Amino acid sequence: MSISENYLRLRDDLPKNVTLISVSKTRAVEEIKAVYDVGERDFGENKVQEMMDKYEQLPKDIRWHLIGHLQRNKVKYLVGKVHLIHSLDSVRLLQEIEKQYEKSELIANTLIQINIGREESKTGILLENLEELLQACEECHFVKVKGIMATIPIGNEESSMYYFTKTKEVFDELKTREYKNITMETLSIGMSNDYKVALKAGSNMVRIGTGIFGKRNYNL
Ligand SMILES: *Cc1c(COP(=O)(O)O)cnc(C)c1O
Repeated sequence: MSISENYLRLRDDLPKNVTLISVSKTRAVEEIKAVYDVGERDFGENKVQEMMDKYEQLPKDIRWHLIGHLQRNKVKYLVGKVHLIHSLDSVRLLQEIEKQYEKSELIANTLIQINIGREESKTGILLENLEELLQACEECHFVKVKGIMATIPIGNEESSMYYFTKTKEVFDELKTREYKNITMETLSIGMSNDYKVALKAGSNMVRIGTGIFGKRNYNL
């Protein structure tokens, strides 16, 4: 099947309330354009520089999602260009986003990334530090938190369900509370191998790369 066929099949399989992010990291502009041409507007990248290069070359109605770790010194490049930052995971990063967006008086839409499996190799905030970040978000004027993002430890269906459910519980708990600048609308969980499990656990945003574009080649 072609890339655009993969996309269309996947999109038609997903419930209507679920947003499909086509993860286009490492993929060429022509490949992205093929998916764009059959209707996709949400694309995910994990590197700021790569996203900026593609931003310049592709139609301006694309909604770019930054799904990878965000370094503070790169935030300035995103202002006015990124639709949603999925990787807010520290007070220091939050403060930098606030500072950079204030300069243009624009609002940054973000998801808080949680390291739900407490993996040393992964970014994302640990649950015990979440409250402090939420409180700092309430102080902001140029940052809005729209939900939660997580990636989970590699495992089987059972362990995936465990971590996705745990993430959904955090999401639901925060939803019952009232914070300034924070609304729990988006739960960004699920990738090519585990999105079906994530949907069962309550995901409403899945990030799919390989399942659309095929296997990535990092040696190119
Ligand atoms: C690469 C990536 C994805 C997509 O992974 P696939 O397995 O190719 O679907 C999703 N989320 C994040 C954060 C990623 O870095």
